[in-house]
Amino acid sequence: MAVNVDPNIVVIGCGVAGIAAAGRLVKAGFRNVRILEATARSGGRIKSGRLGNTIVEIGASYIHGPSEENPIFCLARDYGLLHPEALTAENQAMDIAECFPGVPNWFSSSGQRLSSEHMKPALEIFIELLDETSQNVNKENTRWASVGHFMRSEIQQRTAERWKDKDATTRALLRCAISARLKEECCTNAAHTMDEIDLSGFEMYKDLCGLDCMIPGGYEGLIDSLMSELPTDLVSFNRPVRCVHWNNTDKRETAVTVECHDGEGIAADHVILTVPLGYLKKNHSTLFSPPLPAEKLLSIQSQAFGTCNKIFIEFDSPWWDTDTEVIYFVWEDEEDIVDQVSDISKFWIRKMSFFTVVESSDSHVLCGWIAGLESEYMESVPEEELRSSITQLIHRFTGNPRIVVRRILRTQWFHDPWTYGSYYHTTIGFSKKDMENMMAPLPMEGSQSQPLQVLFAGEATHPHYYSTVHGALLTGWREADRLISHYAPQRGTA
Ligand SMILES: Cc1cc2nc3c(=O)[nH]c(=O)nc-3n(C[C@H](O)[C@H](O)[C@H](O)COP(=O)(O)OP(=O)(O)OC[C@H]3O[C@@H](n4cnc5c(N)ncnc54)[C@H](O)[C@@H]3O)c2cc1C
Repeated sequence: MAVNVDPNIVVIGCGVAGIAAAGRLVKAGFRNVRILEATARSGGRIKSGRLGNTIVEIGASYIHGPSEENPIFCLARDYGLLHPEALTAENQAMDIAECFPGVPNWFSSSGQRLSSEHMKPALEIFIELLDETSQNVNKENTRWASVGHFMRSEIQQRTAERWKDKDATTRALLRCAISARLKEECCTNAAHTMDEIDLSGFEMYKDLCGLDCMIPGGYEGLIDSLMSELPTDLVSFNRPVRCVHWNNTDKRETAVTVECHDGEGIAADHVILTVPLGYLKKNHSTLFSPPLPAEKLLSIQSQAFGTCNKIFIEFDSPWWDTDTEVIYFVWEDEEDIVDQVSDISKFWIRKMSFFTVVESSDSHVLCGWIAGLESEYMESVPEEELRSSITQLIHRFTGNPRIVVRRILRTQWFHDPWTYGSYYHTTIGFSKKDMENMMAPLPMEGSQSQPLQVLFAGEATHPHYYSTVHGALLTGWREADRLISHYAPQRGTA
């Protein structure tokens, strides 16, 4: 294929969106492509680490909806990174909206083991409501300000009707179990409370078929495979970008100059920006010269980028059943259905309502999940205090003071200076126009200047698969394709 035009294209950020964009452009024959990455590594929010001998995922853990429609599943399969079970037709066909979240163990704040059969009605009502909410069956019902308001109100009503025959203590305990599940939902959405999530925005997210799976050798294996297909000198590491000067009107040859923190200016015809929304919200005023158009900026400011963190805890021996996949902690003193705590510095740990069991051949590791402001606070709790709070929590719920916490590793995404949080969620007042504005290239439509100077990719710019790895990858491909189509007539590929 003859390449008639070979523009300078700078991709900012070497997460999955940046790697996908650059890879697509290189494959299409563009030769002047480079990635500038602020840190010393590729992968961004895909980051695998170790706790002792166990591989732990600091960032993304799961391939959500691993089936043919999910490009991350297809890539991981083709690179040979998946467990055979994840490849079965049965796994790929599974509809997770109808599934229970793995084999659970339940414990209460009075140190009692609760029977899973007993707790089932709580999960049933929650799953039913979540399914209704994501299908937005209550579209006409404008009474509800948010997913949280809708769910809490419906839970009150449905539990009062359906649990009439249960005694008051059982009813109260089941409602507390629902609170534990609601806090889990905050983690899925990286929201402080489900009261922040717009009811109509919630249905924008699309689930893919397939039972979530992990990459046994670590998610970073996928990044390594993708990187191995790029020319070796394509990425400049430790090259944070300070400012994107666009709409250059002086006599410079290119429309854009990318200014790095070290002062170097890199001429570009096009920039694909893949920095996280958290970084963009915090730094937009210095990141663009001239500033972003008001319409785009307002949309960016109105969107939410929340925090979800994990705390990995290694034990000398397991205190859960061998087949357990998830452990719930139920606070029995919660008076209502709640998903946030009243005094964060005192009670932040109450927000951590569930743990998943981490696969390990010779260690016993749990991953505790925590979202919202409580999660952001947790990041700065001194190491010793963290260990002691977690140990006390586990002793209290299991009723066993002899359990020993061997090692702890926490993630700190809110304090990561290149991310400032974990991922995007829709927020009250969400409109499709905001999402369109977020992904719209600069200059915006209607301008007479050179088109496609700055393009926007990254997880938060996918209208349906935001907050995921596959969403991020697809946005990278989308923006690469925008440039490929733009140059197709000149390159004779139209
Ligand atoms: C705790 C956690 C759990 C998650 N769990 C899952 C999961 O189970 N499944 C799933 O599908 N998704 C999950 N996600 C989301 C998923 O990780 C992201 O959606 C995806 O990795 C985002 O990719 P990206 O390329 O858009 O952004 P990033 O991976 O954040 O890449 C952006 C890159 O830009 C760089 N950068 C920032 N500023 C600059 C600058 N000024 N100059 C140069 N470079 C810069 C950053 O260093 C980073 O490398 C999780 C995320 C977190 C944090």
